[in-house]
Amino acid sequence: MGAGVSATHTLLALLRDLAAAPARPARPVRILVVDRDPQFFSGVPYGHRSGRASLTLSTLAGFLPDDERARFTAWLDAERDRLLAAADAGWAERHRGDAEAGRWDGLFVPRRWYGEYLTAQATAAIAEARSAGIAEVALLTAEIDSIERSDRGFAVNAGDTRIETAAVLLATGSPPTRRLPTDGSGTAAGLVHDLYDPGLDETLARLREQLGAAAPEDRRVLIAGGNASALEFVLASRGILDELGARLTVLSPGGRPRNWRRKTPGEVAELPALAALTARAADGENLTAAELFEAVAADLRDSVRAGTDVAAVQAMVPAIPSFLPRLSDRERSALATRHGMAITTLLRQDCGDAVAVLEALVERGAVDFQAGRYVGCRPVGRAFEVTIADGRGEQRALPVRYAAVVGAVGFEGVSHTGAPLLRQLLDAGIVEASGSDAGLRVDEQFQAAPGLYVMGPLLAGNAHPRLLVWHAESVRRIMSLAPEAAKSIAREMILVVENDLAGAPSPDGGAVALGGAHDATVR
Ligand SMILES: Cc1cc2nc3c(=O)[nH]c(=O)nc-3n(C[C@H](O)[C@H](O)[C@H](O)COP(=O)(O)OP(=O)(O)OC[C@H]3O[C@@H](n4cnc5c(N)ncnc54)[C@H](O)[C@@H]3O)c2cc1C
Repeated sequence: MGAGVSATHTLLALLRDLAAAPARPARPVRILVVDRDPQFFSGVPYGHRSGRASLTLSTLAGFLPDDERARFTAWLDAERDRLLAAADAGWAERHRGDAEAGRWDGLFVPRRWYGEYLTAQATAAIAEARSAGIAEVALLTAEIDSIERSDRGFAVNAGDTRIETAAVLLATGSPPTRRLPTDGSGTAAGLVHDLYDPGLDETLARLREQLGAAAPEDRRVLIAGGNASALEFVLASRGILDELGARLTVLSPGGRPRNWRRKTPGEVAELPALAALTARAADGENLTAAELFEAVAADLRDSVRAGTDVAAVQAMVPAIPSFLPRLSDRERSALATRHGMAITTLLRQDCGDAVAVLEALVERGAVDFQAGRYVGCRPVGRAFEVTIADGRGEQRALPVRYAAVVGAVGFEGVSHTGAPLLRQLLDAGIVEASGSDAGLRVDEQFQAAPGLYVMGPLLAGNAHPRLLVWHAESVRRIMSLAPEAAKSIAREMILVVENDLAGAPSPDGGAVALGGAHDATVR
């Protein structure tokens, strides 16, 4: 279920595993990929739901592991002229020289390109698996409403369609974004709860209409949140700001987010607190998750003061895994459920390429920053009055009224999600929330229930000896996990097929009739 990066990398690995298995299934494994969006293999960030100008958050060198990067850059080289002709004009102008010279590694590239590349990979792998008689993969555009246990594994329901399957991969991305609390109509035209629903371009079109209808002096937008999506929105809306003379305020706890700047030449990281932990680890001492968090927080605080935080974060992110062997089982669990997500939040990196554009917008007064946390808003005439809280929790209404208020305030906790499918799975007791409430509890085989596999952001908050996940959003992380999940699924598929042929019960306890279908549903 779901056809984003998580499902696609699992599917690619699964097809490779089935092809390499010593015991080939006597008949092709049947795999159905279901997504509510008609665009397969791109998901939300790498397809039409993100804007044409949306870029990777890190340079290509940081975005992908080496082997995948080599394949992707070979594809970029082959497709360069077509891609540059269709790219955002500003991006093409800034980076044509590097692209033509094949210097991709230092670039923040349009995310849609990765979606296009993945689609090409998946299409080729599906055709190959079909012609080798290994697997038949079908695509279905439908919203999955519920999943029930059935004799043969699971019954997956999408409207009137019922799909019987031996196994399910739940790869539906992050829980929905948190809705902005409001007094009055939460569906008012100028209120945007989720930038990417149904897509960034549609959100911008709605905003253009809303601002265009306001008097020129009232064309003000507030974006609540200072995360990567907020920065993406600021940049994507620059055409509207210019055209309509509108102004945009970014509301974030510390005012301008510390990471909305580029690394300065000569910026060097100093990480004394992490160096001290490294020394203790080298002496054979065990560490705690809280100590790791505190060291990261201390080094980050000092580097912000010294103006070296971009370099510091770039050095800290790859250093974190080196501490994991020094954590006991209890501390690994504390990292997965509590401190890991806090570390990830501290070490946020946003697209550096966007900063030059942001700077120009700030200089000419089109974008400004407001320190505080969003509390609520209420419609006043055709505008909104916004209430914020300061660092001590004191609330006040902002003096300015906004024609539009846009949310970028992160994801819902799983246990109180309003997403219908997750809600149904939780309420039916088929799955339960993980320790951090950012994902679902899974075993070491990636199963939230026997035969129900999970991949992607919903893995967050799990700690096992061979599986430690506090955050599973980056493509790198997903690519490191997907082959492991695929192995578990392939084992089950081959067992199901073997049992099917022998007329034995399937491993999940369901009786698979001889000659019956043997499906894996991969979303
Ligand atoms: C704006 C943005 C930018 C990002 N940029 C980067 C980056 O530069 N680098 C990086 O490493 N990571 C980045 N990430 C993080 C990461 O790559 C994504 O979170 C990742 O794409 C997750 O992939 P996914 O397949 O799990 O989820 P998604 O991409 O969300 O795909 C899930 C799919 O499931 C479908 N679906 C959901 N529910 C149902 C249902 N009930 N029935 C049918 N279909 C359903 C959805 O339509 C969707 O297509 C970014 C994330 C976002 C949101």
